Amino acid sequence: MEFGFTEEQQMIRQQAAECLKHECPTGLVRQLMESEHGYSHELWQTMVEMGWTGLIIPEAYGGVGLSFVELAIVLEEMGRALVPGSFFSTVVLAGQVLLAATNDQQKQCWLVPLASGKLRATVAATESNGRWDAGGITVRAEHQNGQFLINGTKLFVPDAHIADLIICVARTGSMEGVEQGITLFAVNRHAPGLTVTPLKTLDQTRRLYEVSFEQVQVPAHYVLGEVGQGWTIWERVFDKATIGLCAEMVGGAQAALDMAVNYSKSRIQFGRPIGSFQSLQHRCADMLLLTESARSAVYAAAWVASQDANDLSLQASIAKSYTNDAYRYVTGECIQIHGGMGFTWEHDAHLYLKRAKADEVTFGDAAFHRERIAKLIGL
Ligand SMILES: Cc1cc2nc3c(=O)[nH]c(=O)nc-3n(C[C@H](O)[C@H](O)[C@H](O)COP(=O)(O)OP(=O)(O)OC[C@H]3O[C@@H](n4cnc5c(N)ncnc54)[C@H](O)[C@@H]3O)c2cc1C
Repeated sequence: MEFGFTEEQQMIRQQAAECLKHECPTGLVRQLMESEHGYSHELWQTMVEMGWTGLIIPEAYGGVGLSFVELAIVLEEMGRALVPGSFFSTVVLAGQVLLAATNDQQKQCWLVPLASGKLRATVAATESNGRWDAGGITVRAEHQNGQFLINGTKLFVPDAHIADLIICVARTGSMEGVEQGITLFAVNRHAPGLTVTPLKTLDQTRRLYEVSFEQVQVPAHYVLGEVGQGWTIWERVFDKATIGLCAEMVGGAQAALDMAVNYSKSRIQFGRPIGSFQSLQHRCADMLLLTESARSAVYAAAWVASQDANDLSLQASIAKSYTNDAYRYVTGECIQIHGGMGFTWEHDAHLYLKRAKADEVTFGDAAFHRERIAKLIGL
């Protein structure tokens, strides 16, 4: 395992931090939170120009061909800036399915425009049962006359309204042997019978939608990978996306910690900065410890993801269970340290708390991941 970042990786981080500081201040985040789709074309173009949409896509398909570690570095900075819009759904979710499951022709068709920022995409996996395991996939796709017909409803689909392509994780086999018989389909968002409805959610910087399929026709050549073999691919993408989300969460926790420390150094009470008192120092020290430990877990997991190693699921679950608790705690403490002020709409502290609460349940809460760890290590 590599324990330090290379010069190139440090440069990527610095460029990402500087770019987002200027191009994605919280003023823009707030503006997009109040907009219809929470998406800025200008910000998207900036990310395209930075090469981020093609960061982990091989050069043969128009990308930069870097590894998951570089992606995690950029995601950490995105989490720090609370970047809204469809980068995560397009690159970290759909991009990785397309990388892992497509043939050369499909890569030309979807991966090349995705790398150049011309195609936005997402993945529709979760349903009303809210489960993240294979047993939660009940939306069905039937094979009929050389094509597939999808029926059912997906929930919590990120950025579906602005996606050109929705990758649907559907069941083509029986519920017995739940991991068998799941197939991945690339579906045009404008396909007849497909309806996208916005969901009212806590974190308006990340839009979630209900996607309904009613007799949606998908040609057989829009199947990604083998029919019935989709779960293995989706599970690995799920693990990598979980690690990517954790990287964002660490960036958010760092932003909340910085905000709290700066306030405690500048707010004067009883003639001294309030940060000179141990009651706040101890709180800040706990926040630092949690942020740093989460960061270590995430970097280790990102390195494992870059190597496609066998313990990917274990590392993803370790990172997510720890980061869930850390991000929630740090953002909660950030509000406490700001006294009553951090709770007000005008202060940015609540934006991070809402992200932390929403991220906590995305891709599984800490209990889900701790149970998964127990199973994976044979407890
Ligand atoms: C929108 C809003 C609604 C509110 N609603 C209520 C309400 O319903 N009921 C109510 O009672 N109050 C309410 N308040 C007041 C709020 O509870 C106070 O703001 C709060 O008690 C913190 O005081 P402060 O903002 O002056 O914090 P600050 O004095 O800025 O303190 C910031 C942090 O430093 C800590 N601190 C301060 N001095 C020291 C010290 N000497 N040693 C160690 N730590 C220290 C504080 O505990 C806090 O964590 C509200 C405030 C707002 C903004």
